[in-house]
Formats: sequence, structure tokens, C-alpha cells
Amino acid sequence: MKPMGPIPPFFTSEEGMLLIGGSGAASLVDEAGDTPLFVYDMAIVEGQARAFRDAMPPTLPLHYAVKANPYAPLLQRMAKLVDGFDVASGGELTRALEAGMDPAHISFAGPGKRDDELIAAIDSGTTINLESEGEARRAIALGEQRGRTPKLAIRVNPDFDLKGSGMRMGGGAKPFGVDAERAADLARRVIDAGADWRGWHIFAGSQALGVEALIETQAATIDLATRLSDAVGVTPPLVNLGGGFGIPYFPGDERLDIRPIGEALDMLLEQRADILQGSEFAMELGRWLVGEAGVYLTRIVDIKKSQGETFIVVDGGLHHQLAASGNFGTVVRRNYPIAVANRFGQAPAQEAATVVGCLCTPIDRLGDKVALPPVEEGDLIAIFLAGAYGASASPAAFLGHPAPLELLIG
Ligand SMILES: *Cc1c(COP(=O)(O)O)cnc(C)c1O
Repeated sequence: MKPMGPIPPFFTSEEGMLLIGGSGAASLVDEAGDTPLFVYDMAIVEGQARAFRDAMPPTLPLHYAVKANPYAPLLQRMAKLVDGFDVASGGELTRALEAGMDPAHISFAGPGKRDDELIAAIDSGTTINLESEGEARRAIALGEQRGRTPKLAIRVNPDFDLKGSGMRMGGGAKPFGVDAERAADLARRVIDAGADWRGWHIFAGSQALGVEALIETQAATIDLATRLSDAVGVTPPLVNLGGGFGIPYFPGDERLDIRPIGEALDMLLEQRADILQGSEFAMELGRWLVGEAGVYLTRIVDIKKSQGETFIVVDGGLHHQLAASGNFGTVVRRNYPIAVANRFGQAPAQEAATVVGCLCTPIDRLGDKVALPPVEEGDLIAIFLAGAYGASASPAAFLGHPAPLELLIG
């Protein structure tokens, strides 16, 4: 028996059926028409946004990192819920604009932006978070060609990283951002070239559950923004502080209490240096907003034994929910929270079972030796924490199975 992560506190059951947003899992599958199915409960997302607003300084805008979940119906709701979008490709920019987000509140980060992507940003009035000197040169030249003033910020590769971060994005040699030592020089060149200078984007890491580490990182981020802005001698209109709020995926993880982070940030902003007095500050979050709101529902096709072990074979797999198989940026495979949706709360069987997907590869393992109630063919397996980096972050074409269905409720 191996442990699994905690089921998010939003989910209950009625007569043994998992409820998602008040509806039974089986009836949601009927409504969508089939399995495998991702269900996203917007009420949970709205609750997270509310918690952010309650805890954080009142003037702090909340941006959504679209790559966490770009499902169009969700994006349309997000466009009304948050203050801005951060996109990481031309495709995401198109989706953000289609969802109705004002380009004045979209920023575009990410390495390897092609000229056509830079043009789409410049023409729409989206802020480009520059990842390199070369990208700055191209964006300025393309702005001149098109007779438009590009809105340019610099993504800084910070000289520190977010401790305990599940995915480090700063500190050391990185493909992301301009090294802190060179960022002020580049900013001066961008301003001298006549671009619309938008400020700094400093993203130090992702998926952190340590309050102290997050507070330290925000302090270091504001300190870095101060040093850089002093060196340039210009107040940045916006300092994007990054994000990094994590969610509990694995055994022993606990939900993050963001209130002390908000209190600390309040103090930091109160005491900020003169050069940042006129700056706006923002945070960008992906998984913390949407991750817990998603459940992946997949049906049991087969139950078999091999050498005394039980294998539960489902009609979904890593082609839809790669992260739950442990193959999306984790070093050691651990179990996501998983349950039998139509036997929710039933006592576990004597023996552990391994839940595998329908792909002919040994890495398609959705639950390794987990404690589940005795099951039958046709039962529904629920894998939680499927709201972020699920459907869009999985190799859907691998093995030619159909794409998953998605359903937004609430
Ligand atoms: C991926 C990413 C995010 C979102 O990270 P989460 O862990 O989903 O909150 C935010 N900003 C940038 C620049 C990113 O690349």
C-alpha cells in the first residue's frame, strides 16, 4: 500500500457518489456524454480568487497564467474574474483575446517568441515580457516596421530562487529572462529606443507550499526590482512579482495559508523604496487558482491480476493526465489523490490495487498500489487536482485514443 495525496476539501458525496459542484459524478458523465472527462468547477476557482483578494493587499491585481488551463469556457469566466492574463505563446494570446481579455491587461512571456508572435503582441497592444537582448532587438525593429510603439517589460532571471519550489524557474543559468546583472542595461536601451516601458517581470518559481519561502522570495523580488529600477533611474509602471503558490498534490502536503503572505507583502509594499512609489504590483498564478477545481473521471474497463497484484485498467491515461502518472516535471513518482467516484467513502479492499491507463507503456500508471474499495468493471475512477496542467499538458495524440471531454460547471 502506498499513500496518496489529500483529496481537496471541496468534495463530498451523496449515497456513495462523489459530488462535484453539487452534481453526482455519474450524472456529469451522462451530461458530457462519455468518459474520459475533465470536470472543472468554477465555484472552486471563484473561491480561490476570493481568498486571494481577502488575503492580499487590496490594490494587488491578480493575473492568471493561461498555460495552467486554457479551456475556452474557463478562460471566458477567468477574463471576468481576474485582472489580467499572462500568456506564453501566440496561440494562448489568441485564446486570451477571444476570451475577451483586454490586451492592455495581457502580458506575453516565454522563450523563443517568433516574429509573427511578437507582431501579434505589438499589433494588439499586449505587453511583451522580453526574454533576451535578441528578443528586445527584434521587438523594437518590428514595432518600427509596423509604425507602432511596442509595450515592453523585461523578464528578469533573478539571482535567487524560490526555496522548496516544485519547478525552479530562476536562479543560475536559465533559458528564461535576462540575467539580473544585465537587466538594467537592457531596460535603458529599450527606453532609449522609444518603446513603451512597462517594467519588470520576476518569476522565481512554482508550486511552493512554504509560507516562509514565499515571503522571503517576495522580499527578494521587491529588493531586486528596487536595485534594477534605481540603476535605470526610472519608476517601472508595473512590477510583476511572479507567483509560485502551490497546491497539495502528495502525501504530507498541506494547503497553503496565504494570509501571512498577504500581511508580509502589505508591509513590504508599505516600506518600498522611493523609486517604486508610483509602481503597480501584480501576481500571476496558475495552478493555485484552477488546479483543485478539476477532476478527471475515467471508467474501469478491466480488472486483472498479475503475480498476485491487482491492476485496475481504465479508459483514460497519461495521454490526458500526464502529471498524475508522474511524468510531468517530478523526480519521484507519487500518487495523486484518487478515488472510486461511485463508491466514494467506502472502506478500502484488503489489498492495494494499481490503477493503470489504456496506453501500452509501463509509465501509464495513475495510482500505484493505492487503497481503493473493491471495484467492478464500469465503475468510475476520479483523479483529483486535474484542473491545471491536465488536458492541455498531456500528449493527447500518443496511441491514437480520442481526446478527453471537458466540462465546466458552477
Ligand atoms: C508557468 C508560469 C506561471 C504559472 O505557474 P503556476 O505554478 O501554475 O502558478 C506563472 N508565470 C510564468 C512566467 C510561468 O511560466
